[in-house]
Amino acid sequence: MNSPRYVRVAPELGLDKLFDYEIPESLAGRMELGQRLRVPWGKRDIMAYAVEFPGQPEVEKVREVGAIIGERPLIPPGLCKLARWMADYYACDLGAALRTILPGPVRSHEGGGKMAWWIEPVRERSVLAEKALKGAKSQKKAWDHLCLQGGGWLTRLVKETGLGTAVWRALVDRGLAERLQKRFVPAEEKAEEGWADASHRPALGEEQIQALAEWNEERKSDQGGRPILLEGVTGSGKTEVYLQALDAVLQEGRNAIVLVPEISLTPQTVARFRGRLAGRRVRLCVLHSGQTVAERRESWHEIREGRAKVVIGARSALFAPLENLGLLVVDEEHDGGYKQGEAPRYHARDLAVVRGRMEGASVILGSATPSLESGYNADRGRYRRVRLTRRVDGAKLPKVHVVDLRKEAKPKNGGPVLLSDPLKLALGSRLKKGEQSLVLLNRRGYAPSVQCPHCGKVEECERCAVPMTYHRGEGRLRCHFCDAEKVAPNRCSACGSPVLSFTGAGTERLEEAVVHCLPGVRWTRMDSDSMKARGAHGKALEDFREGRTDILLGTQMIAKGLHFPKVTCVGVVGIDSALNLPDFRSSERVFQLLVQVAGRAGRGEVPGEVFIQTYTPFHPAIQFARHHDVDGFREQELEYRRAHGYPPFRRVILISFSGGSDAQTRASIVHVANRLREIWKGKTEVPEPAPAPIARVEGKYRYHIFLLVEKVVPVMRDLKREILAPKWPGNMKVSIDVDAQDLL
Ligand code: ADP
Ligand code: ZN
Ligand code: ZN
Repeated sequence: MNSPRYVRVAPELGLDKLFDYEIPESLAGRMELGQRLRVPWGKRDIMAYAVEFPGQPEVEKVREVGAIIGERPLIPPGLCKLARWMADYYACDLGAALRTILPGPVRSHEGGGKMAWWIEPVRERSVLAEKALKGAKSQKKAWDHLCLQGGGWLTRLVKETGLGTAVWRALVDRGLAERLQKRFVPAEEKAEEGWADASHRPALGEEQIQALAEWNEERKSDQGGRPILLEGVTGSGKTEVYLQALDAVLQEGRNAIVLVPEISLTPQTVARFRGRLAGRRVRLCVLHSGQTVAERRESWHEIREGRAKVVIGARSALFAPLENLGLLVVDEEHDGGYKQGEAPRYHARDLAVVRGRMEGASVILGSATPSLESGYNADRGRYRRVRLTRRVDGAKLPKVHVVDLRKEAKPKNGGPVLLSDPLKLALGSRLKKGEQSLVLLNRRGYAPSVQCPHCGKVEECERCAVPMTYHRGEGRLRCHFCDAEKVAPNRCSACGSPVLSFTGAGTERLEEAVVHCLPGVRWTRMDSDSMKARGAHGKALEDFREGRTDILLGTQMIAKGLHFPKVTCVGVVGIDSALNLPDFRSSERVFQLLVQVAGRAGRGEVPGEVFIQTYTPFHPAIQFARHHDVDGFREQELEYRRAHGYPPFRRVILISFSGGSDAQTRASIVHVANRLREIWKGKTEVPEPAPAPIARVEGKYRYHIFLLVEKVVPVMRDLKREILAPKWPGNMKVSIDVDAQDLL
């Protein structure tokens, strides 16, 4: 292959643009993607990263690269390859893919910062340490502290332990610890909740042993191993399996990435990894959205330099620049949070499988309710299914009651049935016995719409085609799409009638009902409105864990990955609207949510029970959830998907146009549909463009083409050319969403 003549670079200026340079003779053949370069910029030189080798530069006059900085690329080769894959599959250019991988703070880094000493234990020496430190009391104390922390700033270590610098120096002199100069990041060493030494490793149960054996067999097979789909009921010990797989990989000197749906909602999982690794003297890096720019930059370098062996984080942690990757874990693989909502619209679970294959790392996808896509892949043998069928402590899965709301008495005030009699009774009796309950209503606010009973007028958002939600606490109407708000009216804006009715219910209304029917109850409402304040979420969970509250009620926030042994009753209120969304996945989502939230009940000694209130008690999602029948649901749902050619049988590509003029937006997307029909004549069907289910958001009209294809990559070139390349009139936004999750 000829060595490239041009290179496209991302400057370290924080500009969201790429620039082309020529590669001079002297550097030919030495340039790699991901390298840091010095390039001329106006009258000075700046730093930049090589992100692409274009065949032709975008502009006529290009200047020459000055020099290559440092011996190795900032982006490891594996990630450069992954970026290529992303660009081909998710319809973006390579530059955009690389910009996603290389976080802004790293790209825009301008050097500088104070340097400080960083002390870190030398792991391989830990056996030696016990002997060597006999009799050296302070050094032993320092060593233990250091191992628990996994490393720390010298000044901080001194402060934490009261041991002087000489003690730490002695550890370094003995070869037990290393001393490094690093750019100082003050916030990094904040003590985090749950940093306990949980190095205790429980004896595995039979099924867990079997699961690990199968994982081992798979990863040692010739093809490098298929991804493992670890399908285990809630509380069956999946996390323990991840932890021990992680141990095995670390022992081999390889590194790992663990993805969780959302760091802030899975504090217990993160704490367990932290605790276990602290005991193992391995440095772990947690990536989360609350990090400052400096922290993110420092994390990236720490990982890139090989100091952190394990990275745990949400979706974007998949791009952690680890080399020598041995394991990728995706916990709760079915979670919608793994799909990025803006371009490049990647799916982290799918990319994890791709990255694992590219870098020879084994992949474990875990869930109690796997996505249809993953379940089907396991059915076909592309993934290996490993099951955990029993809860660790032998606890029984809870009994699930379906409450038929059609038979419940309507409240006298004309409002919705919030707590049915059976649920009310159960909550009351659990409260008396000092047990805890969860009540889920996946909708925030007081009432989803406000309607005039006389003329029928519904208060809608001016910019979006949706009703506004009434938030009683603040006395306002809010649009849940654009966040527009206004004071709640006290009379109809159309006919002036002074009576308005609040239709449906949100968490605020549920809260009112719970408090009303359970005098003396101690509760917390948990939704994104009530948990806005920093630390509110952690505090609510702690109060609940410590038994200071009896009931936790709220949106799906309460359904995620929590383990509370004292919860014996779970109520699910108002699930029907989610079943009726115009989305082929609505049934799957409801099933997953029901099983997940039901799994929060009865994780201790007292058996749990669950109440699902619905107007459609025979809906398959509800019936299969009632029997915890994941296989049954998958079979039935696959039949429906097959009949319509929906995923996983074909891939969905959602093409969206949105613009300020209805006619113009419509005309543009119709034009595209016609062009595609011409190009693909008879090969791939192109359905009629249609207004999006939410036809207007933020004043923009929205249209969709819902495309179903056998294979993505072959149609991508045509789609990019016909949709992304043209200049559309007005401020038209266009997008191509491959494997779209959000169809509204
Ligand atoms: P899951 O991830 O499937 O929900 P976890 O791994 O969180 O399950 O396990 C549930 C609980 O059981 C946790 O408190 C965990 O510490 C404990 N546990 C897991 N495996 C074992 C084991 N082999 N022996 C004893 N306790 C275990
Ligand atoms: Zn009216
Ligand atoms: Zn709006």
